[in-house]
Amino acid sequence: MDSNWKNLRINEQRFKSDFDELCQIGKFGATGVSRPALSDAHSEARRWFHRKAREAGLITHIDGAGNHSARLECNRKGAKSLLMGSHLDSVPNGGRYDGALGVLAALEVLRSLKENNIPLAVNLEAIDFTDEEGILVSFLGSFAFSGKLTTEDLTNPRGNRLELENRLKQAGMSAEGILAARCDPGTLAGYLELHVEQGPLLEAQGVDIGIVSNISGISFYRLTYIGKAGHAGTISMQDRRDASQGSSAFTLAARQIVLEQFPECFSNVGVARYEPGLFNVIPEKAEIALEFRSAYMDQFTKLKSALLQRAEEEAARFNLGLNIEFLGQRIPVELDETMRHAILEASESLGLRSAPIISRAGHDAQAMADVCPTGMIFIPSVAGISHSPDELTHWQDCVNGANVLLQTALRIAISFS
Ligand SMILES: [Zn+2]
Repeated sequence: MDSNWKNLRINEQRFKSDFDELCQIGKFGATGVSRPALSDAHSEARRWFHRKAREAGLITHIDGAGNHSARLECNRKGAKSLLMGSHLDSVPNGGRYDGALGVLAALEVLRSLKENNIPLAVNLEAIDFTDEEGILVSFLGSFAFSGKLTTEDLTNPRGNRLELENRLKQAGMSAEGILAARCDPGTLAGYLELHVEQGPLLEAQGVDIGIVSNISGISFYRLTYIGKAGHAGTISMQDRRDASQGSSAFTLAARQIVLEQFPECFSNVGVARYEPGLFNVIPEKAEIALEFRSAYMDQFTKLKSALLQRAEEEAARFNLGLNIEFLGQRIPVELDETMRHAILEASESLGLRSAPIISRAGHDAQAMADVCPTGMIFIPSVAGISHSPDELTHWQDCVNGANVLLQTALRIAISFS
């Protein structure tokens, strides 16, 4: 391959008109998008993606987990595949860039390479993973693809089980098919994902391209404090076993633990439910949903022990029972050195300012990191806003990101020739 590839860029007009078309599918208000996984809007977006791919002469494929891909094959026998992608689903009432941009950019990279007849030693594949946002099952598509999904994840999903069954049926998917979607890591050259930062750091630092070094791990628990129901006006304050006291004390303690001992970590109690849930009855049960995050494995493990130990201590303090239910986790990952270096070189070649960054949000790249060399490219989010119709990334940054994806993919592809 001569060095002409270094001047190759994506087709900006086509990329923009595709973006504008895709935004219309599941459009919500003036600037929002609502495409929850396997909803009608999401399915329509996936059909649109495949239609565009076929129009460009790419080969399309849907695996058992519903992951949609488009493929540009090199004509070398036994060649590995370099995957690029993200997700076309969105949170309900979300934004236009989260996920969609990465899939569109991957498609645009494939088309640009195809029409310029760039000879490659790897197959290139643009992939749209199912339910990254976890409306039904957290990371359904990429966890199935990377072999992390279990039967238990499907029978006891974080979302509503009946809804999961209905949506799978509508999409023509089955549990067996999903579990059989596991890839053969030996066939993969790597995975690259372009994504909006969803945080304020790149914009604040005036950086064009974030090279993701680590992706935070996240753990989900349901904690249920169990006391004794009784008349709120007759049982003395000393004698009552009020489940809400335990859960509330823990909620405040969790914040203090993170602030004082784990300043780089995060915890959140996002749901609290009392039973029987009446003005004049002492709560017998208090159920809270806990999640916590860290970018580093040692802190992740220590934070987990500290939080769960404190949960027990608060139960004892208020004379309560405690049921701790583990609902799943994604462990923190460090992304591949070679991929990071290729992204750095690609950014430099395009005259863009880059900096390493930690991803505080989860991404499909997290699922792929232990399966094949994985890299992730961030572009700035205006004011760090995401998962909202106000999500915005300046168009020039989207073009920059897609060109970095293209130039990174070329550098990785060359290393296989
Ligand atoms: Zn996303």
